[in-house]
Amino acid sequence: MAVIMDGKALAAKVKEEVRAEAAAMAEKPGLAVVLVGDNPAAQVYAAGKKRDCQQCGIYSEEYLLPGTVGQEELIQLLEELNQRRNVDGILIQLPLPAHLDERAILQAVAPDKDVDCFHPWNMGRLVEGNAAVAPCTPGGVMRFLQEYGVDPKGKLCTVVGRSNIVGKPMALLLTQAHGTVTICHTKTPDLKACCLGADILVAAVGRPGLITGDMVKEGAVVIDVGTTRDKDGVLRGDVDFPSVEPKASYITPVPGGVGPVTRAILLENVLRAARSRGKK
Ligand code: NAP
Repeated sequence: MAVIMDGKALAAKVKEEVRAEAAAMAEKPGLAVVLVGDNPAAQVYAAGKKRDCQQCGIYSEEYLLPGTVGQEELIQLLEELNQRRNVDGILIQLPLPAHLDERAILQAVAPDKDVDCFHPWNMGRLVEGNAAVAPCTPGGVMRFLQEYGVDPKGKLCTVVGRSNIVGKPMALLLTQAHGTVTICHTKTPDLKACCLGADILVAAVGRPGLITGDMVKEGAVVIDVGTTRDKDGVLRGDVDFPSVEPKASYITPVPGGVGPVTRAILLENVLRAARSRGKK
């Protein structure tokens, strides 16, 4: 029987740490959330972020822009937010509508306000092992490992998924923590063999139930980043929990695992950004 890693409890702990630190600051940290279009799921996420900020004493602003907003107009807003003293972090809810150049827009966020760590400058610092903040989801996974006393040092780690947002930075953070990392993707010839070799297995794919018990080594630590809504609206992870849990030593559930911790790490990143921008 695996230890179920409790994301809600860890998120509450991180949020309490952020709340206490923010309360002691003379100038509040601030987050601006930019949302384009009327995607209901994205609006729910944005509302959740606003609530999180309120709970932690972080000032927040929300910009709900129409789906037809032009590239120039959006970049102009970001340039204004880049100049603002009371905004330490700028978060652009992805995905953006197809007519917008996502790459150019993410690059328009000042690197010191890029609390998602999506800007190439921050990605470069991450590669150097010198990032001011880690991307929220991989950062959350590392926090999970730390919380449960799982040290990647000397361990074989497999990350399934190579996106810029999760898989690649996840592999970098595990490497920096002295894990030996294999990255898998759709062209990996034998996914099962790569997973079976792992002491720490991170699935960040978006294919419900892809990782089954026969792909997991006895005693492995299994982190499920995947969140896909099925046709009934139920949130499903990449890991087939019933067959994997009996083999794992530690496992994250979906929901209640990586998701809440990711949200909490965003708040920690806003606080760090405020500190590094000189707020005391
Ligand atoms: P993404 O950009 O779609 O990337 C998915 C990755 O999985 C790609 O690298 C893809 O390989 C790989 N992949 C797809 N099918 C595969 C297969 N059958 N075998 C091996 N690899 C396969 O997704 P993402 O943004 O990284 O997100 C991944 C999942 O995490 C999604 O479910 C997302 O909703 C979830 N997520 C959760 C949180 C959270 O807070 N819990 C945060 C972010 C993302 P190729 O590169 O070869 O296409």
